[in-house]
Amino acid sequence: MQKIGILIETRDQRVKPAMYGVITAARGPERELYGLVFDGRGREYKDNLAAYGISRVVAVQSENGMIAWNPDTWAQAIVQVMEQLEINILFGLTSAWTKDIFPRVAAMLDVPLVLDCLRVDIDNLTAEKSRFSGKTIATYKLHGSHFLFAVRPNVIEARQAAGTAQVDAFTVRLDHERMTVEAVEQDPAARVDLSEAEIIISGGRAMGNSDNFQILQQCAEIIDAAVGASRVAVEAGWVPHSMQVGQTGTTVSPKLYIACGISGSVQHFAGMKTSEVIVAINTDSGANIMQSCDYGIVGDLFEIVPLLTGQLKAIKNNE
Ligand SMILES: Cc1cc2nc3c(=O)[nH]c(=O)nc-3n(C[C@H](O)[C@H](O)[C@H](O)COP(=O)(O)OP(=O)(O)OC[C@H]3O[C@@H](n4cnc5c(N)ncnc54)[C@H](O)[C@@H]3O)c2cc1C
Repeated sequence: MQKIGILIETRDQRVKPAMYGVITAARGPERELYGLVFDGRGREYKDNLAAYGISRVVAVQSENGMIAWNPDTWAQAIVQVMEQLEINILFGLTSAWTKDIFPRVAAMLDVPLVLDCLRVDIDNLTAEKSRFSGKTIATYKLHGSHFLFAVRPNVIEARQAAGTAQVDAFTVRLDHERMTVEAVEQDPAARVDLSEAEIIISGGRAMGNSDNFQILQQCAEIIDAAVGASRVAVEAGWVPHSMQVGQTGTTVSPKLYIACGISGSVQHFAGMKTSEVIVAINTDSGANIMQSCDYGIVGDLFEIVPLLTGQLKAIKNNE
C-alpha cells in the first residue's frame, strides 16, 4: 500500500471545497490517503474527508497542543509526520499557504516539488504544468525519495469515493522556532478566495474607477462569486493587486469566469484560460476575448451587468 499525505487546508472551520479535487487527484488503487489537519478539528472533518477517499486523518499537534500558524514550524511538523509514518508523497492545494510551506518541506528533505500542477500521474511520477502564459503544457518527470505536488485549485473535478476514516493524534517535537509570526491579517473585503472561487466576475479598464467595481460586487454577492480585475484596473489603483488575474496576478480555474470590459490580452488569459466556461461582456465584437470565450455579449457592461444582477436576484428569490 502506497502512503500519500495530503495537507488539508481549512478556512472558517471548514475544509476548503477545492481540497476535494486535490484528494481526488491523489486517489488510486493500492493507495492509502492520510489527511494532515493542523487546526484541531480532525474529528469534525473526518466524514467529509472520508467521503472523498481519506482513510487516516492525522491530527497534528505539539506537546503544547495545537500548533499556531507558522510556516517554519508547520514545515518541521510535516517532515516529522512524513518520516515517521513513511509517507513519501505529499499533496496540497496551490495557495498562498502552500507556497509558504511546501518549499520549506522540499528544502528540509532535499526533494523535488512541483507547484501549480494541472495533472499528476503518481504511478509514473510526472506532473503537468502550464508554461509560457499557457501556450504550452510542460510535463515534469521527478526523481528522488520523496515528492511534493501542489495542485491548481478547481482543475481536477472532485469525485466522491465511499469510505471511512479514523482519526489519530500525532504529536511532533518542535525543538526550536526559527521565525515568529507577529500577526495574520485577512482582507475583510475578500469574502471568497479568488484562486479557489467557483465563479469569478472581473472588471478591466472599462470599469473607469474603483466605485464602479460596486456593480460587480453586487452581482458577485448574489451568485457567491469572487471579484477579479485586469492589471490595468490594478495599476490605476482602483482595486488591490490581490484581485489581479493573469500572468503576474493570480491564476484561477473557476467553473464560470465573467470578463467585463476586458480585452483578453495574452497575459490576462494566462491566468484564466483553464476556466470551464468564459463569458465576455464587451462593446467591441472584435476584441480578442470575444474570439476565445464560450459566450460573448456585445454591449455596454454598465447596462448588461445590472440587468444580469436583476435577473439573478429574481431567480434566487423564486427558489
Ligand atoms: C509582463 C506583463 C505582465 C502582465 N500581466 C498581466 C496580468 O497578470 N493580468 C492582466 O490582466 N494583464 C497583464 N498585463 C497587461 C496586459 O498586457 C494588458 O495590458 C491588460 O490585460 C489589458 O487590460 P484590459 O483588458 O482591462 O484593458 P484593455 O486592453 O484596454 O481593454 C478594455 C476593453 O474594454 C472594452 N470596453 C470599453 N468600454 C466598455 C464598456 N462600457 N462595456 C464593455 N466593454 C467595454 C474595450 O472594447 C476593450 O476590449 C501584463 C503585461 C505585461 C507586459
